[in-house]
Amino acid sequence: MSNLVHGETIVLSPLIRRITAPNPGIMTGPGTNTYLVGKGEWAVIDPGPAIPEHVDAILQAAADAHATIQWILCTHTHMDHSPAAKALQEATDATVIGMPAVSPQSQDPSFSPDQCWQEGDYVQCDDFRLLALHTPGHASNHLCFHLEQEQVLFTGDHIMEGSTVVIAPPDGDMKAYLESLEKLKGIAIRQLAPAHGHLMDHPQDVIEGLIQHRLMREAKVLTGMEKTGPADLDTLTPAVYDDVPPFLHPIARYSLQAHLDKLQKEGIVRESAGIWQKN
Ligand SMILES: [Zn+2]
Repeated sequence: MSNLVHGETIVLSPLIRRITAPNPGIMTGPGTNTYLVGKGEWAVIDPGPAIPEHVDAILQAAADAHATIQWILCTHTHMDHSPAAKALQEATDATVIGMPAVSPQSQDPSFSPDQCWQEGDYVQCDDFRLLALHTPGHASNHLCFHLEQEQVLFTGDHIMEGSTVVIAPPDGDMKAYLESLEKLKGIAIRQLAPAHGHLMDHPQDVIEGLIQHRLMREAKVLTGMEKTGPADLDTLTPAVYDDVPPFLHPIARYSLQAHLDKLQKEGIVRESAGIWQKN
């Protein structure tokens, strides 16, 4: 049963609480999950969209728990993840942490981190340590955060529950996405905490399933190209996504572009004037 209720604080573990923002939609599922990590000192992961009620709910949760918000961590700078950092920082004086966007104008232009993180950076206090893993693919500036004490990985949009992550070039990169999934195979993870959807058990099965799903789609891209012959994206999309409802094809088109870019980098297909064909 879903416990993704907007504005309610859900206690998930001794160190983790979750509040889901009131921004449900086709791209955000039930809404963006904001995670509150810690006991007396809190790290807020993905403050979410700049919706005043959501910021108020986060502040109220901290007041109720007699906790202070010390850090605001953003997995990436899409508009449903980082814009509330500004209002939350104004209310708490917390340190804003994340990786700046490559092209800030097309993402959250207000994002201005106090600390620009890279792979291996971390925050640590008496109760926990949160370590950053750079996981480009969905976005080039995407970080996952590993809570070492509970072996929980906050996956942002790298892994979602219940829907396939959109990889939209040019900032989205399928090759990088698969490499970032491979990288997680080497990490001790007990549970995945996505920005959209519920906690997920059996992380390594989930990760392997996602890799296989993408490789299955890549194989469908190649068989689709055999059927259509040299073709543009509009022709290829229904051929490759014949198992996906047509109303989702405009989104699938982004992933198709990402698959084709990957295959082109690997020398398997080529593009000329918008027409794609196999080599
Ligand atoms: Zn995103």
